[in-house]
Amino acid sequence: MKLDIVVTYQPRYPKGHEKDFVPPLTGIHLAALTPARYPVRVIHQQVQPVDFDTDADLVAISFFSGFADEAYRLAGEFRARGKRVVMGGPHVTFWPDEALAHCDAVVAGEAESVWGRMLEDAAAGALQRRYQGEPSSLAELPTPRYDLLPDAFFVKRVVQATRGCPFSCSFCCVPAMNPGFRVRPVEEVLRDVAYDAFDHWWQRKIVWFWDDNLTAKRDYIKALLRAMRPLKRWWLTQASMDIAEDRELLDLMEASGCIGVFFGIETFGARSLASAHKPQNQVARYRRAIAALHKRGICVMAGFVVGFDGDTPESIVAMADGLYDIGVDVPFLSVLTPYRGTALYEQLEREDRLLPCPTSQFYNGYNVAFEPALMRADELLAAHRALWRRAFSPGQVARRLARAARTLRPGALMMATAMNGFYGLKRLRGNAPTVISEEGFDDCLDAGALGLFMDSTLPPDDRRIHPDRATAGSASTS
Ligand code: SF4
Repeated sequence: MKLDIVVTYQPRYPKGHEKDFVPPLTGIHLAALTPARYPVRVIHQQVQPVDFDTDADLVAISFFSGFADEAYRLAGEFRARGKRVVMGGPHVTFWPDEALAHCDAVVAGEAESVWGRMLEDAAAGALQRRYQGEPSSLAELPTPRYDLLPDAFFVKRVVQATRGCPFSCSFCCVPAMNPGFRVRPVEEVLRDVAYDAFDHWWQRKIVWFWDDNLTAKRDYIKALLRAMRPLKRWWLTQASMDIAEDRELLDLMEASGCIGVFFGIETFGARSLASAHKPQNQVARYRRAIAALHKRGICVMAGFVVGFDGDTPESIVAMADGLYDIGVDVPFLSVLTPYRGTALYEQLEREDRLLPCPTSQFYNGYNVAFEPALMRADELLAAHRALWRRAFSPGQVARRLARAARTLRPGALMMATAMNGFYGLKRLRGNAPTVISEEGFDDCLDAGALGLFMDSTLPPDDRRIHPDRATAGSASTS
């Protein structure tokens, strides 16, 4: 039995990505879990065409909620050609019946505990409709199949050392999707970190940890970092801001080659932070926490989410200056999205604030799927785009890079430059996140009210929201 694993992707920018940085881990991890008797290919739709005329007997499709419609389209094409299709991922975990209407079988939850059985059933012609994976030990997981990755990805060595997160932010499905907090044996993580059959020096050098909160268990992460030191890698991960209080950990991060940490800062407002259920973030400590990382030359990437109940259009646009002031090197700016499996979804459903969205792209992190508390949905969307344009304006990018050149170590500076360049180039090309076209959003995007959000420091030709909107029609069908 031949297997194709398709990792679904749907562009979120009208002109796509100028460069594809890093692949998700799922496809090459599932390929590594696949017994050798089943030949396997991994297709990343982000950088490769999907081969509908494949000779595979079984097609496994992985996706998250924002790409659900595209995944269902792919499944329909494969099934029309007589292929059996199995689906998995976070969306399938929380919407299994919806997915089952489009495929032959679903794998809900974490796949490891059922992947082998599902493949055997498929090979025997006895595929079941549902496989419910259970959280299991992370010991003895194989090295991901890096050899199956296409060359288009800049970084290839993606690793997961831990799974889960001890926190429970209202908008995050990690606690429900990956309950508990589990770690892989240090020596097995080291084996993956030491893998170096890559073509380019930076691919041998960089380790991208896809963990949700790598530093949550301090004894574990310190042991891992001590063991990683001799490998002289450059590594990046996500962590929570409380690491800034742990000087020993920060020193070990520096010594083991950390070049970047992603903090989920999310917001500046106390009410919004409370709405996010994020007590581990203290607004008054943001600046000090980031300075502690900068002192060691580490780049601080930070995620900001707009649309919490305390947010207003003005507070959202003002975040562009706030994130520079606290020291962020690379911002990631998204719209609050009520994924099923989260406390946020339950709250908004209870309050009858979920919008009827015509496509799953409203759940891609760049569009609005609910009624905000202090503004209309279209105002939230416009405020997000105005923030995005301001934060990635040439002036803001130049300011961040000038500071990065003074504070960051070489690998961190390289990463900060590449990522600011990535977004700055999008901004220059007018390649802002696609607005999904729907009646009702158009008013705001045309309205004089947008004057409120325009960046008066930009040349007149640049003071436009309309180009973002103009992409909507074409992109909504892309
Ligand atoms: S800290 Fe991050 S991974 Fe953990 S629950 Fe919050 S958003 Fe999710």
